[in-house]
Amino acid sequence: MKCLGIEGTAHTFGAAIMDNKKILSDIRDSYKTKKGGIIPNDAANHHRKVADKVIKQALKQAKLTIKDINLISFSQSPGLAPCLIATRDKAVEIAKKNKIPIIGINHCISHLTSGLLFTKATNPVFIFVSGANTQIISLEGNKFRIFGESLDIGLGNALDKFGREINLGFPAGPKMESLAKKGKYIPLTYTVKGMDLAFSGIITEAITKFKKGEKKQDLCYSLQETLFAMLTEVSERALAHTQKNELVLIGGVAANKRLCNMLKIMCKERKAKFFNVPLKYAGDNAVMIAYQGILEYKSGKEDNYNIDIIPNLRTDEVMVTWK
Ligand code: ATP
Repeated sequence: MKCLGIEGTAHTFGAAIMDNKKILSDIRDSYKTKKGGIIPNDAANHHRKVADKVIKQALKQAKLTIKDINLISFSQSPGLAPCLIATRDKAVEIAKKNKIPIIGINHCISHLTSGLLFTKATNPVFIFVSGANTQIISLEGNKFRIFGESLDIGLGNALDKFGREINLGFPAGPKMESLAKKGKYIPLTYTVKGMDLAFSGIITEAITKFKKGEKKQDLCYSLQETLFAMLTEVSERALAHTQKNELVLIGGVAANKRLCNMLKIMCKERKAKFFNVPLKYAGDNAVMIAYQGILEYKSGKEDNYNIDIIPNLRTDEVMVTWK
């Protein structure tokens, strides 16, 4: 079964073709800014502008034509509404024109299942840290249950928000990681509430300290140390509670080496295995959308061409019907 997956929940427009578990192509084009964060309508315009080119390249890289495609899957939820609409419109247009079945995918769920595709983990606790999401998740029964999460903004967005204040542009996470290498520790508030986390107060505190003259690199270092330690603490508790011995780190912030190291040390101390999705697939991509499309289609799901977007669909609202 060959599925064309189309991703476009936020900054990245991607198209990928999977033949069951085999990646035939993976093309991406990301919206970036030199200053400031994502403007949803601008990102949607970016997606509209690059969509045909990206999809054409994905077919070319897979050495296929649209006639060879058995299924189209696209990121239907959750995400920035204008971006979701632009992506849905393109997916429906191609599916309708070529009479190909279509299926809408929850982007966050596809991050989780691709964590199983790309690692040797079988029944892990997932640490999902992207721009918009920070969740500690485990599959229990027929739903991915959320054991802990950010009560305000996602970890990536928190880093980006501070990065914006110090003029790093978007995305700020990687630039903050390199600045942090030269930094020293300044105490910041540590906000863990049960299994949940809160980042925005700490970001405001760091911005205030920056305005009072603290150095950029010291604040980048201290933010990483504080926010990642908070995440490591709740991750350890989730492993203890679920009695699982595998941890899978996914989402764009998984690119951060310091975060990986903290989690690795914690896992080693608990004799749990740490898995990191290859960096190329840790952030937004269409491979995971294509793979999830195949899983769900094979389990009997199919949508129609009047499909709507669902900007706020949570991971724990999706029934897991596939193996
Ligand atoms: P979602 O998947 O929830 O819709 P998203 O589309 O914003 O969110 P991703 O592409 O998974 O997310 O991740 C992007 C985020 O990852 C950005 O906030 C970016 O700053 C952060 N990020 C990328 N590389 C690093 C790094 N090396 N260190 C810290 N953060 C990073």
